[in-house]
Amino acid sequence: MKTRRRPYAEQRPQDLGGGVWSVPVPIPGNPLGYTLVYAVESPRGPLLIDAGWNHPDAWDALSGGLAVLGLDVTTVSGVVVTHFHPDHAGLAGQVREASACWIAMHEDDAALVRLMTEYAASEQDDFQSDMLRRAGADPSEARQVMGTRPVPPAMPDRELRDGDLVDLPGRELRAVHTPGHTPGHICLHLEDADRLFTGDHVLPDITPHVGIYPYDRDDVDPLSDFLDSLDRVADLSASCGPLDALPAHEWIFPDVAARAAEIRHHHEEKLERLRDLLARQAQPLTIWEVAAMMTWNRPWGELPPALRGMAAGEAAAHLRTLEARGQVRRHAGVDPVRFQALNS
Ligand SMILES: [Zn+2]
Repeated sequence: MKTRRRPYAEQRPQDLGGGVWSVPVPIPGNPLGYTLVYAVESPRGPLLIDAGWNHPDAWDALSGGLAVLGLDVTTVSGVVVTHFHPDHAGLAGQVREASACWIAMHEDDAALVRLMTEYAASEQDDFQSDMLRRAGADPSEARQVMGTRPVPPAMPDRELRDGDLVDLPGRELRAVHTPGHTPGHICLHLEDADRLFTGDHVLPDITPHVGIYPYDRDDVDPLSDFLDSLDRVADLSASCGPLDALPAHEWIFPDVAARAAEIRHHHEEKLERLRDLLARQAQPLTIWEVAAMMTWNRPWGELPPALRGMAAGEAAAHLRTLEARGQVRRHAGVDPVRFQALNS
């Protein structure tokens, strides 16, 4: 996969005009480099879109970056997180402590944060090891994949639904539910300025991770949701004119609809390649076997265990979509679960 990474060291806080600013916040030790946190002007104090990773360096970059722009983190009126992942929601709790602001996220991600908060650590370990066994990972590999347990982000004070206007006096900022990367991912449409804050849904060069956890779930289809959400964003541009994308990583870019169509095409090709791969197999395959045969940005054997776990989640999401389209059959009565192409 082509990448045109831009290092964090080259990033600066920016005044984007029209009462919108961006602050790059580092993600220590992560090749993604940084999260772009956006601030939107409001008479009650700036509203933040995402907050960044929970780390002292990230906090310094956020509070210092806002100060460079003439904004004070203690006056923030609210934080809307595009989704619950730690590079977006991680610092929201600390911003709330500093400013007594509210935190908002989509109700479906809020439900996940509640679940993460309530789940005991031992239950999470059982959940992970069962999931890996049913996917066909051998026990020693499963132990390596089960690395660090995610720390849940702060519980939100407000929950958003599709079409809700965010509490931002004098401006029109609307939540657009774009499930796929997470069930409750939202983009935020600044309707008075033809700008769309895209979170991780539409990024200019890379594509977000779309996986199923546990891998063998058949009651959800996040990749189909994601593809529908790409169409949704393209339709938005069709109805209100070209939209500039303000993503949470990489860089700002024009014409979000064109990029959404490109990402959709990328996944349709990947689905087609996977269907062809399965059609060439004599035996049904486990999710783990499928993941090991798919093309990743590094050979399977060189992927660190945690990334193999994510690759399996992505393989599972593609298998589930092919199943929903009637192109793949699941052998559900066996452990590990297996998949086979259907002749069409
Ligand atoms: Zn992200």
